[in-house]
Amino acid sequence: MTEHILFDLDHTLWDFDTNSRAAMLSIFGRHRLALVFGSYDNFHRIYDDCNTRLWRSYADGTVAKSDVVYGRFARPLAIAGHPDEALARRLGDEYLRLTSDGMALMPHAIEVLSRLKAVGYGLHIVSNGFREVQYRKIAHSGLGRFLTGIFLSDEIGCMKPHKPFFDHVMARLATTPDRCVLVGDSPESDIAGAVGAGIRPIYYNSRGLACDLPGVRVIASLAELLTDSCGLVPAGPDN
Ligand SMILES: [Mg+2]
Repeated sequence: MTEHILFDLDHTLWDFDTNSRAAMLSIFGRHRLALVFGSYDNFHRIYDDCNTRLWRSYADGTVAKSDVVYGRFARPLAIAGHPDEALARRLGDEYLRLTSDGMALMPHAIEVLSRLKAVGYGLHIVSNGFREVQYRKIAHSGLGRFLTGIFLSDEIGCMKPHKPFFDHVMARLATTPDRCVLVGDSPESDIAGAVGAGIRPIYYNSRGLACDLPGVRVIASLAELLTDSCGLVPAGPDN
């Protein structure tokens, strides 16, 4: 009997790509980064590579949060031949502020949360994102009114997919894994984490990536959460 649904935030409910791109384009124009990188696409390609590497190191515990926030701008500036730590810090702070004001959500997010809340589930966020931005994203985008709990690795001190993260969530909700479902877009942190914790995972594969997750329910749209096949809403004529 499912009582709680745990949602990842970025790329699952909150449209990270759309919101991030708007913030990046704003920063790129405001700081005349075309003079350094030539084009936005070139800048973003380098940024994306640096950001991915730094996040991997952050997840491994080999770099600090501030290394991600500022390093993902400091490294591209250095690679482009314009090392500037002070500018990297400004860009890092500005990006976090601008992106967390983003209001774009993944398709069907509101209707799905609204329906699942009406069914009576406790709806919660489980995210590895930074504390400084995740609460702002949730508030600005209107997700907050549907949520009962917000669980951030930044506050728990342990990231998905590690089991202590989910142990903490289970303890706080005074529930057990068999009474929970997790919906997320990351096979590594969300799906592996849920499987390891004994929670039923639903993989939101919005980008249609190749995936090999035996026994895991895969959806291409959040709207599928309201269909009989996910078993979350009572079967009826209005589903
Ligand atoms: Mg995600």
